[in-house]
Amino acid sequence: MRLSVDTIRVEVASGATVLDAVRAAGAVVPTLCYDERLTPQGSCRVCLVGIRGRAMPACTTPAADGMEIRTGDETARRSAQLALELLVSQLPARALDIPAERSELVRACQHFGLTRSRFDGATRDAGADHSHPYVKLDRDLCIACSRCVGMCAEVQGTFALSLAGRGFETVVVAGTGGPWVTSPCVACGGCVDTCPSGALSEPGLADPRPIGRTTTTTCGYCGVGCSLRVHERDGSVAAITPAHDGPVNRGHACVKGRFAHAFTRSRDRLTTPLVRDGGRDSPLRPASWQEALTFAATRLAAIRDRHGPDAIGMISSARATNEENYLAQKFARAVLGTNNIDNCSRLCHAPSAVGLAASFGHAGGTNSVDDLDHTDCILIAGANPTEAHPVIGARIKQLVLRGARLIVIDPRRIDLAEMADVHVQARPGSNVAVFNGIARVLLDEGYADQDFLRSRASGLAELTALLADHPPDRAARLAGVAPETLVAAARLYGAARRPAIVYGLGITEHAHGTDGVRTLANLAILKGAVGTPDCCGVLSMRGQNNVQGASDMGALPDMLPGYQRVTDAGVRARFNRAWRAEVPARPGLRILDMFASAIAGRVRAMYVIGEDIAQTDPDSGNVRRALAACDLVVNHDVFLSTTAEHADVVFPAVPFLEKDGTFVNFDRRVQRVRPALDPPGQARSDFDILHLLARAMGADLGCPTPADAMAECATLTPTFAGISHARLDRDGPLHWPCRSPDQPGEGRLYLDSFATPDGRAALAARPYLPPGEQADTTFPYVLITGRRLVHYNSGSMSRRTPNHQLRPHEVLDLHPDDAARLGLADGDLVEVTSRRATVTYPVHLTDTVTPGQLFTTFSFPDTPTNALTSDATDTDTGCPEYKITAVSLSPVRAGRRVESRRRTADRLWR
Ligand code: SF4
Repeated sequence: MRLSVDTIRVEVASGATVLDAVRAAGAVVPTLCYDERLTPQGSCRVCLVGIRGRAMPACTTPAADGMEIRTGDETARRSAQLALELLVSQLPARALDIPAERSELVRACQHFGLTRSRFDGATRDAGADHSHPYVKLDRDLCIACSRCVGMCAEVQGTFALSLAGRGFETVVVAGTGGPWVTSPCVACGGCVDTCPSGALSEPGLADPRPIGRTTTTTCGYCGVGCSLRVHERDGSVAAITPAHDGPVNRGHACVKGRFAHAFTRSRDRLTTPLVRDGGRDSPLRPASWQEALTFAATRLAAIRDRHGPDAIGMISSARATNEENYLAQKFARAVLGTNNIDNCSRLCHAPSAVGLAASFGHAGGTNSVDDLDHTDCILIAGANPTEAHPVIGARIKQLVLRGARLIVIDPRRIDLAEMADVHVQARPGSNVAVFNGIARVLLDEGYADQDFLRSRASGLAELTALLADHPPDRAARLAGVAPETLVAAARLYGAARRPAIVYGLGITEHAHGTDGVRTLANLAILKGAVGTPDCCGVLSMRGQNNVQGASDMGALPDMLPGYQRVTDAGVRARFNRAWRAEVPARPGLRILDMFASAIAGRVRAMYVIGEDIAQTDPDSGNVRRALAACDLVVNHDVFLSTTAEHADVVFPAVPFLEKDGTFVNFDRRVQRVRPALDPPGQARSDFDILHLLARAMGADLGCPTPADAMAECATLTPTFAGISHARLDRDGPLHWPCRSPDQPGEGRLYLDSFATPDGRAALAARPYLPPGEQADTTFPYVLITGRRLVHYNSGSMSRRTPNHQLRPHEVLDLHPDDAARLGLADGDLVEVTSRRATVTYPVHLTDTVTPGQLFTTFSFPDTPTNALTSDATDTDTGCPEYKITAVSLSPVRAGRRVESRRRTADRLWR
């Protein structure tokens, strides 16, 4: 459409508003109730413009071909000014004292030259609500524009906010109007971002002291990879705001990435190396870098020389950057001479890497998350995005609110199940049965894409033969659901035009996790919903920030960077030439095998980077025995973790806000990580520590900077060949594969052919097999572990922030029927006993779990859940069965109440 704004001719797309046209012309019209992410309301009347002699709100009036818009129209201007003056007349004078860059209201007043209202309105005295650590409400500044309400509903999908009261008394309330902190608010910060008047604010930005530097980086909490703007003041983080041009988060964030940054200046940051040189019973003592490096280097070299390189096991980190992981595996292979290098993706998404590679070719999700925008049906299996990946949870809610259908397959009634068309509340461990049952319905009822199967897939005959024995009623029986529910889910997925699959650790962390991934991938192949121009494919929700990248960089015992096999002599020869070293040909040990070997006396040293394995790895009693059995434990961490307490040398490391490099998020997007703060004391990056330790061992790892490390990785790794820091800084994030500097990365994979040996998507005929551990008469309950919104993994970062006030201790979710049987009330203590240990929790009664099932996390060291978890692992990858632990419950009748536990947790947050 062509139209004019004042005297300027502009062209806008159909569907554009007058405000779009005004902005396209570079003219300025103030707005108050308008946010481009929300449905326009046209209620504040501040954006009035003249059109054919009438004053019209620019934000809600559709642009039309030939329209003549006058932003300086006198009638419109006077009406807008009057509306603004009336509004200001009801506000206290301090409303206009807020700096203009933080208040759209002040900017609107400046636009009209308004310094005070001519009208003498009655002002409110409704007071403030500072109950929440992050979201502060000054009711007297609320102009009832409803933007926060829209943000909470339309962007976040939480519907926690509303406007209450009438007329002049109207004000935003959270939940039912009680203290904000008790409301369902999830503290995404969207309401604070959008509030135009300063009624809603956060402490860091409300502070009048000036901000120093602002740095754009990538969140280091979960695998979504939100782009964040970090505002520094006096050497600390003043505030973090979501980047509005962030490709994944699109200006949104969650309570962790947005607010949980206080840990960076926690008093218990490690700021100097620590050494324990009097045996394991002696305390760790501060040491100089030189002393600590010499201590570690001498002992590592001695163990390597006396017992052989394979007597050392190294665990790299999903919290570290790609460049640090690249350097860690190079250190293991080129300096220590072992392939005993693994990373924590072993414990979460190793089945995804193996399963997706076997089904499609690459060890990552098949599509960009942007493809979800076009889906008409989302199947979420074993993932709880609104808590574990909140920005994706919000995006999924937006899609459902716009009409996409939703299938949830999960043993718990997770938040998204509330808005699902079908919830298959399948028993833990029954995933393969469920997916085979759905596959059978797709084939039986004609939903399978036969052309796709003929031309682009393999394995149909074998799958069809297997499914003869997997009718939906058998699958439903194994899953403990009604057959009709399973069939309804299959029909919904089958009937969709562009179905998407999103899955998480509820699929992978099982004794048959790889089978779960493969049989789930079968559904996309049967439907022809992968590798086609309009497909939405299969997305695996990675847990930690750089789980994908740690494996991409070759921190794996059998793979070099880019999933190139160490057993391939040609591949090894390339790395040998580049590194001037000899990469061992024999694959190394996986994490859990390292522990077993340490207990057996074959592994004599463990080198653990940035992971608290003694808290987060399964059967943690076994992990501690392994660490105790070693002659040497070397650890890098930001805090003195449970693992660091077992170490002989601890190097003080830095978190993501002090790092330089890149992360890879869950949809294979390589994104820059930039230091927003200087490290405290003598803390150094894992990158620097690896270099220093190599040097102390007489070796040179090369690639002196993270940019050099990425450049070296690119020369050796075809899938990363086109990626460099310079390009990322210039062009923004890139998906891998990105095979040359002039190619864009591939967000949607396999458009021509799959990357399997025969170029076809491989259907997998995998039968249902029972889980590694099952409930029985001695251990009649099934404990499921997972995440909660405000804490992250071991909790070492989030517990040292005001997130701790939002959840100060862990609880055990228990169904009210079970609680009644055991005589337990909410908050009572219960002993949970597995075949390995007993841990005491306060119970939280909830029907989000079914009778016989329990749920908790391992984010709190004083409730060490992994002392309980099973030692069963995925048969293909060694990924632990975190999702099923058989336990018994025993109420603590005369023991401490929950208050004592709270006090313990309080001590942990400083
Ligand atoms: Fe985004 Fe995840 Fe960080 Fe939250 S924790 S801001 S969802 S990357």
